[in-house]
Amino acid sequence: MRDLIGIGVGPFNLGLACLTDPLGLDTLFLEARDELAWHPGMMLDDATLQVPFLADLVTMADPTSRWSFLSYLKETGNLYPFYIRESFYPLRREYDDYCRWAAERLPSVRFGQSVVGVEHVEDDRGSSYVVTTSTGEEHRGRRLVLGTGTQPRVLECVRGAGGPFTHSADYLSRKAELQALESIAIVGSGQSAAEIYLDLLTEAPEHDYALTWLTRSPRFFPMEYTKLTLEMTSPEYTAYFQDLPELTRARLLREQRSLYKGISGDLVDAIFDLHYQQRVTGDGPRTTLVTNTEVTGAAWDGTAYELDLHHHETDEDFGLRTQGLVLATGYGARVPAFLDGVRDRIRWDADGRYVADASYAVDHAGQEIFVQNAEEHTHGFVAPDLGMGAYRNSVIVAAVTGREVYPVEKRIAVQSFGVPDHLRRAR
Ligand SMILES: Cc1cc2nc3c(=O)[nH]c(=O)nc-3n(C[C@H](O)[C@H](O)[C@H](O)COP(=O)(O)OP(=O)(O)OC[C@H]3O[C@@H](n4cnc5c(N)ncnc54)[C@H](O)[C@@H]3O)c2cc1C
Repeated sequence: MRDLIGIGVGPFNLGLACLTDPLGLDTLFLEARDELAWHPGMMLDDATLQVPFLADLVTMADPTSRWSFLSYLKETGNLYPFYIRESFYPLRREYDDYCRWAAERLPSVRFGQSVVGVEHVEDDRGSSYVVTTSTGEEHRGRRLVLGTGTQPRVLECVRGAGGPFTHSADYLSRKAELQALESIAIVGSGQSAAEIYLDLLTEAPEHDYALTWLTRSPRFFPMEYTKLTLEMTSPEYTAYFQDLPELTRARLLREQRSLYKGISGDLVDAIFDLHYQQRVTGDGPRTTLVTNTEVTGAAWDGTAYELDLHHHETDEDFGLRTQGLVLATGYGARVPAFLDGVRDRIRWDADGRYVADASYAVDHAGQEIFVQNAEEHTHGFVAPDLGMGAYRNSVIVAAVTGREVYPVEKRIAVQSFGVPDHLRRAR
């Protein structure tokens, strides 16, 4: 009987494995892949994390942990080069290697174990869950932590059209195939869309493809990254957000897109600067960038996609014929099918989403099943943020152990979220 079974080992459950490692708990973390691979489809050489290295697996919870990014650098002999590099932002490839370094050293992490079923058991050993994996193994635990991440979002009209479209999650494995084509279209408004566009633009002189970038957004907007806004990536903003009415939360998530979607400002400028350079050297590709544009339909004729498009501002319908199609259309939380056997033990909202409480528990008892990065609609835009992973895990560890093993900051911000108590009028 384990104290805790984690399902899925991405950065968030890996962080939990690191933070529970020194606590003497009996934990097990099951990962479907044969090895840790953090977004391999977007492992571009020059890409960096969009958060500082302190947003590693453990430091914001326990700066003394042996599983910190600095410990990894020291153990791999890279601490001085990192120090000299003087950048807060590790390379994406470096972060992936750091996660592998931790996962390979944690006895509680098991790879090649895709969870296919969960059953609840109530017997003389009390309430627990039996988890079955694709290899036929069964594991029993008192608590579950669901860290299966998010799945690529594919436009229904493109899925319906079939053909060889690519989601950004698979970009690098499909890149050579794309670059052999005469035309490539990228759909999306976020960091991945911009990174793929710049990557294909950079290498365009060696190839002969027309490049089109379509986004629904009114402009290629930069992610907001100013310090008072960053204070919203905090424990108290999450607590404040949870207490807001459901409709207000849904409205805020739509309005707060630039806080967690959008493109890093440097990348937007790098794209412009490369265009300028290619204009001068005259070796730029035929390229088109269009905003306010929605893909409303798609057809695949065996050679190319015919995309139906609508421009939101001019209210015009138009089209594009493209051989290659990259959907950088993001990711969405999906409730895994392996939960079918225990759905009755979980709180759901009217849209079939988990209802997580302040300790990230989603079961009716509020202490048996916890979620990672599936609670945006209740806890706010910080759900996928690596910078808040250690905080969430500190809260889950406290719920599991019944004590605050890792201090959880209650207030870090200069500003107040909501009406400050000292200004509240007596009702
Ligand atoms: C390209 C990219 C770059 C990003 N960069 C940043 C960044 O710089 N900063 C930031 O804050 N956020 C970033 N994010 C957002 C976010 O931090 C990441 O998506 C992060 O990987 C989410 O971690 P996770 O643990 O929730 O899920 P994932 O990393 O998606 O991991 C989930 C794991 O669960 C496994 N799994 C799924 N189903 C099962 C099953 N049935 N049984 C067993 N295992 C299963 C999967 O194989 C996977 O390994 C980025 C996202 C992307 C796509």
